[in-house]
Amino acid sequence: MPGDSQDCTDNGYGFSTEPSVPKILIIEDSPDNMKLFRTLLTLKGYQVSGLGGGEGLLEEIEQGNPDLVLMDIQLPGKDGFALLREIRGSPFGTIRVIALTAHAMTGDRERALQAGFDGYITKPIDVKSFPDQVQRALRGERLTG
Ligand code: MN
Repeated sequence: MPGDSQDCTDNGYGFSTEPSVPKILIIEDSPDNMKLFRTLLTLKGYQVSGLGGGEGLLEEIEQGNPDLVLMDIQLPGKDGFALLREIRGSPFGTIRVIALTAHAMTGDRERALQAGFDGYITKPIDVKSFPDQVQRALRGERLTG
């Protein structure tokens, strides 16, 4: 199976001399979506943390030092665009942030790219391709569909 080779080094026991497991922070207010994303990415071997909204976001980034942020656009309170601006204006401004856009909100995808997201993933996600999309984002690819 492609992808299984990484299991040789990422054994989950955290030996400091081994390559670290990529850390992903998810901002998503839907518990069902959060559970699905967490499950898929944890199965893939990533270290996943999550927030239901923007509260404590910068602190979480500072403490968790994630390699990638997956940011829902439609959130209660500050939306994903506002939270991206907070991130970009912070000491962690260069972190990779991917927008999670609702399929029905077609304008959000173009707007996300213009706002400075490093790409977007459309919800509902494709369960089969989602882990690969995240892997590509971790490699620095700009996701545009
Ligand atoms: Mn939402």
